[in-house]
Amino acid sequence: MSELLGTGVGRGVAQGPVLRMADPLGEPSTAALEGSADDAKQAVASAIAAVAEDLNKRGQLAGGDAQAVLEAQALMAQDPTLLDDVHARIDGGTNPERAVHEAFAQFRDLLVGMGGYMGERAADLDDVAQRIVAKLRGVAAPGVPESDTPFVLVARDLAPADTALLDLDKVLALVTRDGGPTSHTAILARAKGITAIVGVTGADDLSDGTVVVVDAAAGTVVTDPSAELVADVEQRIADRLAAAAAPLTAGALADGHTVPLLANLGSPADAAGAVALGAEGVGLFRTEFLFLDSPKAPTVDEQKASYKQLLEAFPGKKVVVRALDAGADKPLPFLTDKDEENPALGRRGLRALRNHPEVLRDQLTALAQADAETEADLWVMAPMVADAEETEYFVDLARELGIRTAGVMAEVPSLALMAEQVFTSADFVSIGTNDLTQYTMAADRMLGTVASYQDPWHPAVLRLVAQLGSAGSDAGKAVGICGEAAADPLLAVVLVGLGATTLSMTPAALADVRAELGRHTLDQAREMAQAALAASTAAAAKSAAAAAHAV
Ligand code: PEP
Ligand code: MG
Repeated sequence: MSELLGTGVGRGVAQGPVLRMADPLGEPSTAALEGSADDAKQAVASAIAAVAEDLNKRGQLAGGDAQAVLEAQALMAQDPTLLDDVHARIDGGTNPERAVHEAFAQFRDLLVGMGGYMGERAADLDDVAQRIVAKLRGVAAPGVPESDTPFVLVARDLAPADTALLDLDKVLALVTRDGGPTSHTAILARAKGITAIVGVTGADDLSDGTVVVVDAAAGTVVTDPSAELVADVEQRIADRLAAAAAPLTAGALADGHTVPLLANLGSPADAAGAVALGAEGVGLFRTEFLFLDSPKAPTVDEQKASYKQLLEAFPGKKVVVRALDAGADKPLPFLTDKDEENPALGRRGLRALRNHPEVLRDQLTALAQADAETEADLWVMAPMVADAEETEYFVDLARELGIRTAGVMAEVPSLALMAEQVFTSADFVSIGTNDLTQYTMAADRMLGTVASYQDPWHPAVLRLVAQLGSAGSDAGKAVGICGEAAADPLLAVVLVGLGATTLSMTPAALADVRAELGRHTLDQAREMAQAALAASTAAAAKSAAAAAHAV
């Protein structure tokens, strides 16, 4: 047996033979253009149209998050600036395949140079270029291999178009050499509930037919596993299947202590899927989708229509909507500063909104109007809030504009440290463990090289959660969790032990978390939490929690 390490996505485990994704098309030749430039441009235009149509069609088939990603790729294919560049190269005597290759490669390098979120879009652009070149060459685009039997797909990186349409009966798990926790491969794998590990050093050495165990929870790929390990994995797979098939009961610990299980949603279209998986409401509705790709903020009426669509899917249920979280990896030309050196530490979230109060006022007004015409229990919170003064600013404004329940996200350590004061005005706090971990550990959550710091099991992060939990309990107010940490079943139990009153996650994670909560009482969850708090590293906290109440 040997073990490769990477970043696990989700909690799944799988085992089976490797099948590698075909290598990308060979680089187009540098041979000079034959025939007329106009014919070459016409051929490129047809290839681009065909690729965009194919991507849009795949998007419609896939729906949800995948559709948005594929439609964005179709737009990339049709980008007029890129097309101008291709034309200029053809006019300069370059053959059409080469012109596409060079123009896209130049833009790709620009994205990689920008790093972070933009850098991780490079794989999307490469895929579009390959698809156009394949069309020009008259060959099939490189993609997922066909097989009659299930396999573990190993690739350099997966394009969104491939990830979105993976045949889940055939693909047991995904292993990619490239990609970080926020790459599209990771985002789509998480949303589809596919067992995946990204950024696996040594993935290139895995050859077709090698049997591997892919353990996303541990972030390991074990080659040629022992019979004992295979038996253990099969048991875990059976347990997960049983959890997924279990009745959609309300979230509760073994002693009946309720912990509502809520969904993180990015658009109203995702609501039905979340309800089908047993979401008891929404713990985080990200509103950025309404604003991104738009030169100005949507009107109150446009926003209201979207919010109503969301609220109508949850009559009588709690729905927590987050005010626009622009900045850092989600820059908005009309709201955020372009020239910040460290945008994650810049004017993002509430800071950006406070600088443009009209945008915040419109959003809160639209939310209040949608609330008045629907039956859901609307809660509204602000992102990236630093302290009690900012909390009071937001809560006062929300109340003035007709929001009945207003709170803040705990993403900045200073807010957690001031928790008692924050609860004097906030109706609730929701802990965004993704950013809270990033800021506590001072490690960019977009950066693969510091991904090991981005671990919410770190006792420093848990201490801040504990402080928020106990301040919330003293004030008799709700403390939710809406970062990825809530989707880690064991950590979810620990978070409840630290005082979390609700857990919100990507809907695909609900079944695993529901099952794990049912294995521990509140007293046991508290013992696990104390054990984790006393540890000195993330890994030790996890082992200590597991050992404190092994099931
Ligand atoms: C978080 O930071 O944990 C969070 C839920 O917000 P986002 O991931 O959208 O930044
Ligand atoms: Mg956040």
